[in-house]
Amino acid sequence: MIISVDGPAAAGKGTLARALAEHFGYAYLDTGSLYRGVAHAVLMSGSAPQDEAAGVRAAETLDPAKIDPVAIRTPEVSEAASVVAAMPPVRAAILAFQRRFAENPPNGEPGAILDGRDIGTVVCPDADVKLYVTASAEIRAHRRWLELKGSGSELSETQVLADVKDRDARDTDRATSPMRPADDAHLLDTSNLSIEAAFGAAVALIEQSRG
Ligand code: C5P
Repeated sequence: MIISVDGPAAAGKGTLARALAEHFGYAYLDTGSLYRGVAHAVLMSGSAPQDEAAGVRAAETLDPAKIDPVAIRTPEVSEAASVVAAMPPVRAAILAFQRRFAENPPNGEPGAILDGRDIGTVVCPDADVKLYVTASAEIRAHRRWLELKGSGSELSETQVLADVKDRDARDTDRATSPMRPADDAHLLDTSNLSIEAAFGAAVALIEQSRG
């Protein structure tokens, strides 16, 4: 059983995907953390995010087990992740890892849930259930701002909204694997849907597909 959960930043897809993985006993992969891991390695090496050779080197030597979960969550790494993610050879270098995870989940789990931007369209086009989680940019920015404030950031909500819109534009407009819902994806708009309601809808879709 393979489930894809795609959508823009701060739409709630991580929270939803994690809750579904726990509910069904499936393995969970946050594919954004891979691009963040690449971006973090590039920045740590002193290179600019736009340096494609540095991005490819970081992607080819990435050890997902060694990604620092805290260091990759800064606004600087978020921004840089969307820059390296637009480079086709960076995407190619981490594609195989994502597919292996989906087809052979670790610890023999009976299914895998991957969240990202292109899981339903490129990484797992044959996923059993495809979800596309979205919300207005304003609502997503507000959520992200509250989260950042909680961890001590002094960024204004206006700045966070500008960053969210920038990242959306880069992820949507890139030539390789742009962010978009697969034709057969179920849309969940969390602007006016609580996370509990989105979870309930997703559980029903997955149960239906499992038969
Ligand atoms: O999901 P998250 O916000 O952690 O992703 C960080 C960045 O990684 C995104 O803005 C996007 O550019 C990139 N990404 C991607 N494809 C994925 C997952 C993330 O391009 N499947």
